[in-house]
Amino acid sequence: MKFDCHMHTFLCGHARGTPEDYIDQAVSNGINLITFTCHIPIEGSGFLQDGIRMNIRQFPTYKSLIERAQIYGESRGVEVLFGIEAEVFPNAEKLESMKAVLATEQFDFILGSLHHQLPIFRRWLSEQNHNTDQDKIDAYFSALAEGAASGLYNSMSHPDVIRIYGTIDSFEPEDHEATISNFLRTLVKHDVHMEVNTSGLTKGVYKIHPDPIILGWAQKLGVRLTIGSDSHNPKQVGQYFTQAFKLLDDIGFEHISYFKNGIPIDVSLETILKGR
Ligand SMILES: [Zn+2]
Ligand SMILES: [Zn+2]
Repeated sequence: MKFDCHMHTFLCGHARGTPEDYIDQAVSNGINLITFTCHIPIEGSGFLQDGIRMNIRQFPTYKSLIERAQIYGESRGVEVLFGIEAEVFPNAEKLESMKAVLATEQFDFILGSLHHQLPIFRRWLSEQNHNTDQDKIDAYFSALAEGAASGLYNSMSHPDVIRIYGTIDSFEPEDHEATISNFLRTLVKHDVHMEVNTSGLTKGVYKIHPDPIILGWAQKLGVRLTIGSDSHNPKQVGQYFTQAFKLLDDIGFEHISYFKNGIPIDVSLETILKGR
């Protein structure tokens, strides 16, 4: 049993390939369950639309793409689940249109991501006078913790993505242990998972999201995990998963979960590593 719970479709405007191409790649990598998590439609110019996310009128197309992919996946031995990558933002009022989508659709899996590189977050940082790296990183992890406590999301995605895309100059987890640990404890308290996202190994400082140091803290606190490649291209499905599973095993994690109908299903790391 192997699964990849974070991948995109071309509807966002910055991902390539058909869902069927992603399924073919999953078959090649021995992955038998995948979850599509396209960027959620969200109104309001600060979150941007063209080239970033589908608009609300494209949502029925997303649903039918996934339905078609589920039929194709069945023929290839890959279960296909219907997820979404939703946004996290410190000002909840900005998320009203997104919440409407979350409230009306039955997703298998909802990721919560704070895309700090979006102009709306950078504007918010300067409005709040968060000008130093320390303040920006604290604000980022505090917003993620609030997101986790909101009950909107099943798993918080690429949790230290703030280290790339130039919002801050440098990121050493040890310098922010109090804020990050507070975020991790919030996950446990509200029974929200954290995503291990292998796309971190393809950009910036080429480390998995979150940094292995954070994963160590998470393991000690009892944080539960999901895993995703964040594929925007079929070739990326399952990227660096063998490395990731070994790392998680070394750190001491015993399970990874995927979500179906919003319910977590745990799979033992031993099962995954042995390819059963
Ligand atoms: Zn994307
Ligand atoms: Zn993302």
